[in-house]
Amino acid sequence: MANNKKRVVIIGGGAGGVVLANRLPKDEFDITIIDKQPYNYFLPWLLYIAFKGSRKPIKREIRSVLKPWVNFIQSGANVVNLQDRYVELESGKRLEYDYVVIATGASVDYSRVPGLDKVTEKFGNYHSNEDNAWRVWQTLNKMREGTLAVILAPGAYRCPPSPLEGVFLAEEFFRRRGLRDRVRIVFATFYPRPYPAEPMNELIEPLLKERGIDYVTFYTLDRIDPEKGVAYSMEGEELKFDSAIVIPPHVGVGIKYVPGDVLDSDGFVQADKFTNRVKGFDDAFVIGDASALPVAKTGVTAHLQAGVVAKILQGEDARNTGRTNCPFDVGYGLGTFVISDFYNPTIKYPINRINHLFKVAFAATYWDMLLYPELWDPVFESYFEATEPARIRHLYG
Ligand SMILES: Cc1cc2nc3c(=O)[nH]c(=O)nc-3n(C[C@H](O)[C@H](O)[C@H](O)COP(=O)(O)OP(=O)(O)OC[C@H]3O[C@@H](n4cnc5c(N)ncnc54)[C@H](O)[C@@H]3O)c2cc1C
Repeated sequence: MANNKKRVVIIGGGAGGVVLANRLPKDEFDITIIDKQPYNYFLPWLLYIAFKGSRKPIKREIRSVLKPWVNFIQSGANVVNLQDRYVELESGKRLEYDYVVIATGASVDYSRVPGLDKVTEKFGNYHSNEDNAWRVWQTLNKMREGTLAVILAPGAYRCPPSPLEGVFLAEEFFRRRGLRDRVRIVFATFYPRPYPAEPMNELIEPLLKERGIDYVTFYTLDRIDPEKGVAYSMEGEELKFDSAIVIPPHVGVGIKYVPGDVLDSDGFVQADKFTNRVKGFDDAFVIGDASALPVAKTGVTAHLQAGVVAKILQGEDARNTGRTNCPFDVGYGLGTFVISDFYNPTIKYPINRINHLFKVAFAATYWDMLLYPELWDPVFESYFEATEPARIRHLYG
């Protein structure tokens, strides 16, 4: 019997790629995931390795979180030829497709800020890998006094609240250790205010002041010298530090595309924000951090976009709403969520213990959610409905 199934090739077995693969019905699609390495990482937990010394495992084998009928190939993809409809693997082997979905995430680029590689080597960061996150934990533990600078380098980055989450958790760390009056904490950002979206900033800026955390805005990191302990901004400011944790600029992952102009200047793939179709191609999609879309680079975004693309592939007229739902840990067991969509700006969503509990609960369900979207969908649909920006915005101003 002829195989009429559509061949879907998904590049990247991270938060977005896996959930999409597991959502596609096996009787309609031949589904293949390609990843250059064997693990699915729960990157949000890097925050807790860095600032709480967590030893919880943050990776699982990609194969173990895929439905049995999904094919997994461990290999880098070197070329995506959208014109001739194939993906070329490291070995040179070509996979032809009916649909391709790019879910390759983002990578960090230290070369954009002179000195950043050395700073990372010395103090760590929590936006790349477990080793660097652990180095942050060691940095905190070594500090007895002086200035800790947390600097958001200019460019794209994962998870909008994550820079300030690090700041708040560092403050809690030093206070609990009885060192708070000896350690100054300063947050430097290129945005005009500590949290970029004003309504959320109305909650965050007073909290920074209340906790005695200094901040510098309009600070565009230019170069950094770990030996002298100085970070220089393009605006001419010199920020002195004893330890510095920098959120590095993020870029695309360096796959060659044909045609090349689907990429923006940072190597992210350009697409339609409602359908995630790659610019100019009906059979190619990009989801999650790999896209150049003006949406937050979060796992939730990737997950929701995967749901839309799964429906489109099955012939539905589905569209993204641009919904964000980023949990925001502000320390001391308190949290909020950054909630918005294409039609509603960020809501001033309250800081409380229950919202922090939601963050912890989402983390606990992560791999189960990837593997069993059919079980978790009703839970998340209820949550998203209850917190729909248009529905709740009048409650919080
Ligand atoms: C500190 C921190 C806190 C965060 N907190 C949250 C949070 O609270 N909530 C939230 O929703 N999100 C959070 N995020 C963001 C979230 O982790 C990412 O947005 C999410 O992982 C994006 O999913 P993705 O599928 O697009 O990419 P990824 O999960 O990064 O997966 C990409 C995959 O593609 C593979 N790949 C790359 N290049 C190639 C290639 N050439 N060939 C084959 N495979 C390739 C990679 O190996 C990887 O497995 C946080 C991130 C950080 C760093």
